[in-house]
Amino acid sequence: VKANGRNGLQLFQEEMAQRSMQHFTLEAALRNAIDNHELEVHYQPKVDVKTGAICSSEALLRWTHPELGHVSPAKFIPLAEENGLIESIDQWVMNQVCQQLKQWQTQGIAVTTAINVSPISLRHRNLVKEVKDLLNHYDIQPELLQLEITESAFIDDIEGVATQLKTLNDFGVTVALDDFGTGYSSLSYLALLPINELKIDGSFIQNIPDCKNSDMLFKAITGMAKNLKLKVVVEGVETQRQLDYVKQLGCDVVQGYLTGRPSTASVLEAALLKQNAL
Ligand code: C2E
Ligand code: CA
Ligand code: CA
Ligand code: CA
Repeated sequence: VKANGRNGLQLFQEEMAQRSMQHFTLEAALRNAIDNHELEVHYQPKVDVKTGAICSSEALLRWTHPELGHVSPAKFIPLAEENGLIESIDQWVMNQVCQQLKQWQTQGIAVTTAINVSPISLRHRNLVKEVKDLLNHYDIQPELLQLEITESAFIDDIEGVATQLKTLNDFGVTVALDDFGTGYSSLSYLALLPINELKIDGSFIQNIPDCKNSDMLFKAITGMAKNLKLKVVVEGVETQRQLDYVKQLGCDVVQGYLTGRPSTASVLEAALLKQNAL
C-alpha cells in the first residue's frame, strides 16, 4: 500500500530508525550524565507504622538533562542495565549516599539508607570490597547502609551473589528484597539470599482493600514474612485507608506518597531534625 509515496515497509523502517535514534541519543546523553553533573540522589522516608516516625530512607536517582528534562529512572535504569552503564551509575550513587551519611553523622543524624543495586552490578563487581572500602573511607557504621536487591533482571550467578551478600550482611550491612511478588524468582531469592527486609511491591496495595484476591495475597505474603522473621515494608502507600489496612495487618514499615515523597537530602534532613527535636 502506497502512502505518500512510501510503502508500509519503508514507513516501518523509518520508524525503527527513528526509535533506535532516540535510543542512541538517550544512551549518549546518559553516558555524559555523571560528568555533566546531571544526576542527583533523592531520598524517600520509610516510616514506622506504629510510631509514625521516619525510621530509614531509600536513595532514588534523579536525572535532569538540559534538553530532555527529567528522565524517569524507570526509563534510564533498564537502558543502563542493557549497555553496562549501570555499574558506574550504581557506584556513583553508592559514593554519594556514603558522603551524605557522613555529613549527617557529623550533624548527629543517623538514618539507615538503602541503595538500589542492580543484579547486573551484583554480578560484575567486587561488591564486598567496594562497600567495605567506601564505609572505611567515610568512616560510616555498616548498619547505616542497606542494599535493595531488585528482581528486575535475572541473577545468573546466585551462589556468587549470595556469598557476597552474606559477607556484607555479617559485616552489618542489611539487605532488602525489593518489589517482592513481581519479577523473576521471589521465593528462591528468599531461600538463597541473606534477606533482612521484604518490600512488598506497590502494585499489591493499589487494589486493597476492595479486591478479595489482592487481600488474600497480601495476607499470605505478610504471614510468610513474619514466620521468616523478616521486616515487612509496604511500598506505594498513598491513602490513609491503605495505611489503616497495613497497620491492622501488623506490617512494620510503609513507604509511599502518603508518608513522604522522594525529595532532596535537605528536605529529609529537615524532617529528621524536626523529629529529633520532638
Ligand atoms: P523502586 O526501587 O521500586 O523504587 C520505588 C519507586 O516507587 C520510585 O520510583 C518511587 O519514586 C516510587 N514511589 C514511591 N512512593 C510511591 C507511591 O506512593 N506511589 C507511586 N505510584 N510510586 C511511588 P522511581 O524513583 O521512579 O524509580 C523507579 C525504579 O528505578 C526504582 O524502583 C528502582 O528499581 C530504579 N532505581 C531508582 N534509583 C536507582 C538507583 O540509584 N540505582 C538502581 N540500580 N536503580 C534505581
Ligand atoms: Ca528500591
Ligand atoms: Ca520497589
Ligand atoms: Ca521497582
